[in-house]
Amino acid sequence: MYDYIVIGAGVMGSSTAYALAKEGKKVLLLEQFPIPHTRGSSHGASRITRTAYPEEFNGSIMAVANSMWKDLGKEAETTLFKHTGLLFTTSTLYKELVDTQKTLQRYNTEPVPIIDSAEISKRYPLMSYPKEEKACFDSSAGILYADKCVMAFQKVFQKRGGEIIDMCKVQHVTPGDVVTVHTHRGNFQAKGLVITCGAWSSEILSDLGISLPLQVMAIQVCYWKARNGVDHSSLPLFKSIDRISNKYGMPTSEYDGLMKICLHYGVLCAGPDMRDNTDSKAEAKNLKMLTEFVASTFPYLVPEPAIKERCMYTVTPDNQFIVDHHPIHRNIVFGAGFSGHGFKMAPVIGNMLAELVQGGKPELLVDELRASRFDKKSKL
Ligand SMILES: Cc1cc2nc3c(=O)[nH]c(=O)nc-3n(C[C@H](O)[C@H](O)[C@H](O)COP(=O)(O)OP(=O)(O)OC[C@H]3O[C@@H](n4cnc5c(N)ncnc54)[C@H](O)[C@@H]3O)c2cc1C
Repeated sequence: MYDYIVIGAGVMGSSTAYALAKEGKKVLLLEQFPIPHTRGSSHGASRITRTAYPEEFNGSIMAVANSMWKDLGKEAETTLFKHTGLLFTTSTLYKELVDTQKTLQRYNTEPVPIIDSAEISKRYPLMSYPKEEKACFDSSAGILYADKCVMAFQKVFQKRGGEIIDMCKVQHVTPGDVVTVHTHRGNFQAKGLVITCGAWSSEILSDLGISLPLQVMAIQVCYWKARNGVDHSSLPLFKSIDRISNKYGMPTSEYDGLMKICLHYGVLCAGPDMRDNTDSKAEAKNLKMLTEFVASTFPYLVPEPAIKERCMYTVTPDNQFIVDHHPIHRNIVFGAGFSGHGFKMAPVIGNMLAELVQGGKPELLVDELRASRFDKKSKL
């Protein structure tokens, strides 16, 4: 028998398994697909990490996560992070900008000014924002090498005695003081269970009587080529928000010389196994909007993506995560709905879930992240 079983070896499950193993627990991490795979939400070469959040609680999580990523890199003896900084911009949502500036100011000794579009152009002549655009700069931000991060968690987890079984889909869970996890490769038992199944979370959670407002969204990831070999490698990451859409981007780690620029949303799909069968008209409309943004803001790029890829977000109605325990079976906990921005927080989420499944009260687990915030709408 194990102390704990974790279902799902994406970044959240791998981080949680590591956090438990670090405390000397006997842990089993189960994954339905072969490891590594590209069918969930944690694969790829890059994820943005930033402290630039309007919400104070997200800033507090990032202040801790930033140093935990460094520790993980040291323990796994690998480089997980590239420091670049991030420009957070808007031409309409000035309150969010001011709140983000406040969050950044809390964790910076240097002043964090709000700059206008003329100053943006002066600093980054390749970028061309409208004159109403304002921005602040997050000097802590950078790129996390996503695949390497997930591998690092798994490596140090195994080094500390953790066990991973891949190609092992969990079909059913029997709750109790001892939890039994049923798979086609046999049953496993533990004192506690952590569910981090990404876009598949509702399958396992509904089996346990929990219904959360999660939706699966197919995302297009687009890479853009510079005309005439323009070198944009020194551009910072950016996140540009407005009332209709959010966009983000970075000089890419995936394809040398290309710029990754994407919309921070996509098209809802019927489930994780249907992500390649989406509404093509809605996708074309999104791509048109993104192309117009690229053409006006990055005029040196060819206004047509050189490469398009697919990924999935699991989104909640307020775009914040859900971290909680089962209302009756407190030894079953779950983390879901990371809404396209959870990767950077994975070390802290892993610690939260590890503490929660052991009956603790994680300090950073605020009500805004609890499932109970949806009580009126969900059946929890
Ligand atoms: C295109 C894209 C860009 C993003 N950019 C950023 C970014 O810049 N910054 C940022 O912070 N975040 C970003 N995110 C979000 C972040 O990557 C995700 O929030 C995070 O990876 C979610 O991790 P997860 O472990 O919850 O899910 P997943 O990675 O999907 O892991 C869940 C795992 O559970 C397994 N599983 C499911 N059901 C079962 C079962 N029954 N039995 C066994 N195994 C099971 C799945 O196979 C899967 O491997 C981005 C996401 C995408 C898709």
